[in-house]
Amino acid sequence: MAKKEFKAEVDKLLKLIIHSLYSHNEIFLRELISNAGDALDKMKFLHLTDDAFKSEAFEGRIDIHLNEKEKMITISDNGIGMNEDDLNDNLGKIAHSGTKLFAEQLTGDAQKDSNLIGQFGVGFYSVFMVAHKVEVITRKAGSDQAFKWSSDGQSGYTTESAEREGHGTTIICHLNEEHVEYAQQYRVSSLIEKYSNFIAFPIFLHYEEQEYTPEGEEPKPATMVERQANSAKAIWKRSKNEISEEEYNEFYQTLSGETDAPLFHMHTRAEGSLEYTTLFYIPAKAPYDLYRADYRPGVKLYVKRVFITDDDKELLPIYLRFIRGVIDSEDLPLNVSREILQQNRILTNIKGASVKKILTEIKKLATDDPQKFEQFIEHYNRPMKEGLYSDFVNKADLLEIVRFKSTNHDSEWTSLAQYKDRMAEDQKSIYYLCGDNPEAVRNNPLVHAYKKKGLEVLLLSDEMDQMVMPMVQDYQGLPLKAINKSDADEGLFDSEKDEEAIKAVEGIVEKLQDVLQDRIKEVRLSARLDEAPSAIVSSDDDMTLQMSRMFQMMGQ
Ligand code: ADP
Ligand code: MG
Repeated sequence: MAKKEFKAEVDKLLKLIIHSLYSHNEIFLRELISNAGDALDKMKFLHLTDDAFKSEAFEGRIDIHLNEKEKMITISDNGIGMNEDDLNDNLGKIAHSGTKLFAEQLTGDAQKDSNLIGQFGVGFYSVFMVAHKVEVITRKAGSDQAFKWSSDGQSGYTTESAEREGHGTTIICHLNEEHVEYAQQYRVSSLIEKYSNFIAFPIFLHYEEQEYTPEGEEPKPATMVERQANSAKAIWKRSKNEISEEEYNEFYQTLSGETDAPLFHMHTRAEGSLEYTTLFYIPAKAPYDLYRADYRPGVKLYVKRVFITDDDKELLPIYLRFIRGVIDSEDLPLNVSREILQQNRILTNIKGASVKKILTEIKKLATDDPQKFEQFIEHYNRPMKEGLYSDFVNKADLLEIVRFKSTNHDSEWTSLAQYKDRMAEDQKSIYYLCGDNPEAVRNNPLVHAYKKKGLEVLLLSDEMDQMVMPMVQDYQGLPLKAINKSDADEGLFDSEKDEEAIKAVEGIVEKLQDVLQDRIKEVRLSARLDEAPSAIVSSDDDMTLQMSRMFQMMGQ
């Protein structure tokens, strides 16, 4: 038997999990069941695609045995299983993100923080919130050697050879005295219903049942009961009008590990030259890793209900990376490889249609439910602007969705359509100004001059605006002009009065040009200034440092 230390990070992480999530420790069950579901997905895939496993009959299932007397709960699956290397790699160190990142995201609200642990790929360790000893007995599909991993969650772990009938994994939790509730039928079945109802495989609960005996009679012996505790249905394959709002939300929670309800969902079935179903959700809040290059994509690809991958950043365009959901195609071959996926015509078509559908629904939300739409904008205006930069095909739709602050509506958001409606008849362009922060933009002397003339200016202070806005160029035939660029002052000249003024300062322009020489490009008279005597404007669209940082963030 080999005794091994946890990698240093695991140690720290265990302490962190136990402290921050303790009041929400019930989620350990959700995490263990979700791992069993993942292992079954992988096995099902092998069974359908790999000749070595095709001949074997396979019915994926999860079995949960409860033993209240012994204070034990055992979660067992006939999934892909693990060999000794897998055990060391998966249950000895942290696979995905680091402890530090996890710690940074913690809010102190155990309910909220419990969402994070599934998202960080550290779910398994949550079992040590409720158990003082955990044994994992596992055998990998295709191997005849089983292993046992065992740990108290404090002093490292051991691995040794073991016996197991068939492939899969059994996790035996020896519950702490104060957590016996997790060996009780009533408690466990309500947790399964709450968190794991839509796991695509049946979960069978095994427990002892004592029949009621009237007083004075000999008590009957307890009997073992086996009962399926989840619905195990692919919800997206059912028809819309049979699915309640609550079921949609539950599925979202199973899928995303979130405990909040989503902002809204979109369920589409396409029939025709391509047959597929999509069910997409927009989370109520932007995912924590939205602006990290190593974000985890939230869309799962299925082929005829068989899970293929949830690790493909190409299923939707990068700017829609906050979407959670499922794409299920009837036309793709099951053994489609990841490399091929990227250039697959069927998938490209599904992707294109999905983006259109998503943007259409978001646009509709603006009129159907302005309050929800505002919430959407608070969280996702920025990714929508990224879309303006990268998705030219859908530019028109994106331009209807993005919102701006403006001199007319300083605190509220305005759309370009609303701006256009407010324009005077002779206004020829849409004006905007980008800057580093809202204060600086609002107080810019150029803005005052435009305001005085009754011209509305969009005030942009998001660091990405400077690179996105020049890409937009026009909205419904109206050019968009930055008021600090040299050609945006046509609306301001008031011919007669200005001619006089121009005469009065003749000569000064040349003089300034002389003095400043090649430190600037040119000195120009401008009608844009009101109280300030001069301002610096730019004429190029240089890529600033900020912009190159933005590119990195968008993973480009
Ligand atoms: P995540 O599920 O996000 O990868 P976890 O901490 O929940 O992170 O699990 C770590 C890893 O342990 C999994 O990725 C998987 O490789 C392995 N694992 C856990 N439970 C099982 C299981 N029942 N069957 C096979 N592998 C498992
Ligand atoms: Mg997991």
